[in-house]
Amino acid sequence: MAVGKQHEQADIAIIGAGIMGLALAYTALRAGRKVVVFERDTRPVSASIRNFGMVWPVGQAAGPSLQRALKSRRIWGEVAAEAGIWHDPSGSMLAAYHADEWEILQEFMTDAPAKGYDCRLLSPGEALALSPCLRAEGLLGALFSSTEMIVDAREVPERLIPWLAARGVVFRLGTAVTSLENSVIETATETWSYGHAYVCCGSELETLFPEVFEGSGITKVKLQMMRTAPQPGNWRMGPALCAGLTLSHYSSFAHCKGLKSFRERISETAPWFVDWGIHVMMSQNGRNELVIGDSHEYGGSHDPFIREDINTWIIDYLNGFVQTPAPEITDRWYGVYAKVPGRTEFIARPRPDVTVVTGLGGAGMTLSFGLADDVLNGNI
Ligand SMILES: Cc1cc2nc3c(=O)[nH]c(=O)nc-3n(C[C@H](O)[C@H](O)[C@H](O)COP(=O)(O)OP(=O)(O)OC[C@H]3O[C@@H](n4cnc5c(N)ncnc54)[C@H](O)[C@@H]3O)c2cc1C
Repeated sequence: MAVGKQHEQADIAIIGAGIMGLALAYTALRAGRKVVVFERDTRPVSASIRNFGMVWPVGQAAGPSLQRALKSRRIWGEVAAEAGIWHDPSGSMLAAYHADEWEILQEFMTDAPAKGYDCRLLSPGEALALSPCLRAEGLLGALFSSTEMIVDAREVPERLIPWLAARGVVFRLGTAVTSLENSVIETATETWSYGHAYVCCGSELETLFPEVFEGSGITKVKLQMMRTAPQPGNWRMGPALCAGLTLSHYSSFAHCKGLKSFRERISETAPWFVDWGIHVMMSQNGRNELVIGDSHEYGGSHDPFIREDINTWIIDYLNGFVQTPAPEITDRWYGVYAKVPGRTEFIARPRPDVTVVTGLGGAGMTLSFGLADDVLNGNI
């Protein structure tokens, strides 16, 4: 241990203050543990603040993933209320404009309630009554799900970090962890002994644990996103919205037989949606802005550039099913998350005192609080 450095001690050390690290900090605090969180940046700026802010259980496959998402959603409700985080339990609607999309929704609904989804099919009239921006022309119906909740991803760490800190969680922001040795973390000015460390460094595992990263199967996924200015007055869009392309994206629909011919139609008529992993969703945050996305590019290292053709395809598709009062885009950005194809998380225990928790893919906002509960209670 370095001489002259302040020495501190915690039961639990967390590396990374993205949503996974913060969810673990919240859960450990609730369990009465002494927690320290190290975050490389002076404030978190990675995937956890770049996303839609959609807590979206209806996208998860029936079984353990859906159950974890529903648990996470319940905890999110508590956390948001306690920490004063803006949230809207808006639910969601998936709108069908083609016969094959409507057939998939009907197939999904044959056993969805029995599997634990809180969904119902809506007629066009019922869907339009819930949404002031859904286009009526060609609408065949929609799937409404009650369980989705929207938060403003930018705001979550701004609220949650001070709230956790006020209750005793120690934060070391602007502090990159470069090694964990013999249950000790050494920073430029301090050493911290810990009982157990949770490494939640998102898509950047290779720096701290290259050997774990090497065998992990993690791929990095780049997504493009957009945002409008605040919509005028008190205009609210109602449930978060998506349409047919989303059927191909979420594992909840993966078992539906109708997907095959739907995918063939998209591949033949609009292959760019397949090539760039585009499906189109829209939510509204507490500042009344509309958040729109997204695309999916898979790989190890991504271009730092935003492709305008991808954004145009997203907006064209969006315009096919919604019409909003102020559609002008004011912000464009991209984010990267870690994902192991076919899995909802990546957990590794490279040493008895270290657990790596990452790879939440496109559902980190949805699953993080449920996963934190499972990890800290030894259920996973
Ligand atoms: C554009 C986009 C849209 C999305 N939309 C949704 C959505 O609507 N709903 C949903 O459920 N999910 C969504 N996701 C997925 C979700 O955002 C991610 O799964 C989640 O944010 C991952 O959280 P994380 O804490 O694992 O990683 P991150 O958010 O990447 O956080 C990791 C943190 O670790 C820090 N760190 C890394 N290395 C070190 C180190 N050595 N020392 C200290 N700190 C370190 C980083 O600075 C970073 O702050 C989306 C993702 C993107 C990119």
